[in-house]
Amino acid sequence: MKKLTLFLLLLNFAAQAQDKITWPNHKKAVIVLTYDDALHSQLSIAIPQLDSVHLTGTFFLTGDINNLTIPQWRKASKKGHELANHTVFHPCLSRDDNPMASEHYTVNRILHEIEVMNNYLFAVDGKSGRTYAYPCTETHVGGKDYVDSLRKRGIIKYARIGGDTNAVITDFKHLDPLKVPSYGLEDHTSAEKLIAFVKKVEESGGMGVIMFHGVGGDYITTSTQAHRELLTYLTKNKKDIWVTTFQQAMDYAMANKPK
Ligand SMILES: [Zn+2]
Repeated sequence: MKKLTLFLLLLNFAAQAQDKITWPNHKKAVIVLTYDDALHSQLSIAIPQLDSVHLTGTFFLTGDINNLTIPQWRKASKKGHELANHTVFHPCLSRDDNPMASEHYTVNRILHEIEVMNNYLFAVDGKSGRTYAYPCTETHVGGKDYVDSLRKRGIIKYARIGGDTNAVITDFKHLDPLKVPSYGLEDHTSAEKLIAFVKKVEESGGMGVIMFHGVGGDYITTSTQAHRELLTYLTKNKKDIWVTTFQQAMDYAMANKPK
């Protein structure tokens, strides 16, 4: 009986090992830094900090970009940052701080809006093959789930949903590329909490996606100092941690996931 238990344990261990993804250049884990809503503090603080340590992030932009900011976003794209789709008007369930109500949207309307934003982004950076983040992490509009309709339309490669510090991805075999979980930060998340999440991802050998809003300003703000401390930790551990854009991380994960 004891032998059988040991045998089953070993079998289980072997199966788990097989299901593990191997990252490029002997890296142990992947961290994806994402920033939502096209906020000014991302242009003035987050991007200069990332550039100073040669790290790249993913910026989920809305139609809230203009003649002053478009040249800056274009410049960020040229430096390797990913410009991604977060709809034109950011429709969500009615709340005081979000004027565009998604209750009155149809699935077709949101898909059309995502398509318009794709074209808008093409005008900014000339790229195609866009990734997406659901506004307010809501995967439905007008009471209807639109994930499968979005999949069928084929206009988005990968999409990010919400989550907390448990959003550590290790099972790439069963990961839905249009429902990739992320760690959505709260207002003033400390550097300790951010680094603890990264360490958890490192130990798992998987991927962790972090969702920022403001950095040193705007709203749901991570302080300039906490953001800087996180980047310092990532830079110090670059031998083990691959920091890349959402699109690049997912391209690699989907091409190399266990069969
Ligand atoms: Zn948003």
